[in-house]
Amino acid sequence: MAANVAAVVVAGGRGLRAGGDLPKQYRELLGEPVLRLSVAALAEHSGISLVQAVIHQDDAALFEAASADLALLPPVCGGASRQASVRAGLEALEPHRPDVVLVHDAARPFLSDALITRAIAAGRESGAAVPVLAVAETVKTVDAAGCVTATLDRARLRVVQTPQAFGFAALLDAHRRAKAVGRDDFTDDAALAEWAGLKVTTFAGETQNVKLTTDDDFVRAEAAKLAALSDVRTGFGFDVHRFGDGDHVMLGGVRISHRHGLSGHSDADVVLHALVDAILGALAEGDIGVHFPPTDPQWRDASSDRFLAFAAERVRARGGRIAHLDVTIVCEAPRIGPHRDAIRARIGEIAAVPIERVGLKATTSEKMGFTGRGEGMAAFANATVRLPWRERP
Ligand code: MG
Repeated sequence: MAANVAAVVVAGGRGLRAGGDLPKQYRELLGEPVLRLSVAALAEHSGISLVQAVIHQDDAALFEAASADLALLPPVCGGASRQASVRAGLEALEPHRPDVVLVHDAARPFLSDALITRAIAAGRESGAAVPVLAVAETVKTVDAAGCVTATLDRARLRVVQTPQAFGFAALLDAHRRAKAVGRDDFTDDAALAEWAGLKVTTFAGETQNVKLTTDDDFVRAEAAKLAALSDVRTGFGFDVHRFGDGDHVMLGGVRISHRHGLSGHSDADVVLHALVDAILGALAEGDIGVHFPPTDPQWRDASSDRFLAFAAERVRARGGRIAHLDVTIVCEAPRIGPHRDAIRARIGEIAAVPIERVGLKATTSEKMGFTGRGEGMAAFANATVRLPWRERP
């Protein structure tokens, strides 16, 4: 029978060392909070059934915003030390009686599925196991004056990471014993397990599994993430709808009063339709009619924001992100200028893209053609999408 595996994610630190006004685990990497990446990796791993985050009491709103759509246990508040925070997480998990627990630092957002799989296997096998890396550089000890006192044998040195894996009951017992004797100074759970007399084994860590501490760490991490999204694509979309009866038009998800409506099967939002085709074009995944056939009655009078949300989700599902959206509306009326920022904001909201990455322009066609004669409206759109060069199978 597969072990019942839980994870504790330690996110209680104030961690302001990395600069900025947020604790570092809530700072964003390309728009995603570090904590979200760490927690999601564990929550989405098929071998883990419970994820318990331990947060600072002041961070409840930040945590909720960062993790709202993930399947997690309600967070618990940490203690004054890392050790006390881990203990709080273990105590909260105790009623669930997991067999194995992984303890992970929220500030390590790049743990891979394979690393988690190794951690679970190692923890199940030995009862106490930590991911390690060999040390490439020579390491020396120094005295208070900075003079070298010894050169260590680097072949026997290892750098230790998280997630560290333990038999749940043994780790909880060790934490309770440490608390009972007033020990609160262990900087990782392996050190506490060693103190408690457990034999701690090692398994292969990952160089990418860095702990984000300084501003430089964040700069490097963002550069690495961007470099991985090196398949940059541009998609193009175009849409037209005819004016008909009505007293408003929908443009970019915003209702704008007008002496006509736009006729169409859905809400006839030319802006959103052009954007959907631009994104689908960048993905080479057909067009809006393929995914939402006009012959299907369920899309009659449908609000087009769901079409754009769908296209944006397709980008995320392929591990990518939308870098930029840009639209040009062609019509003689209504005037777009007064609504420009509201439309940009709404598009950004639907597609989960910052407003700074949404462009919107409007032009007339100098009274020429169908738009010039006021028979309808047109919209052109570009979408710039970044995908991983190597997509996951
Ligand atoms: Mg259309």
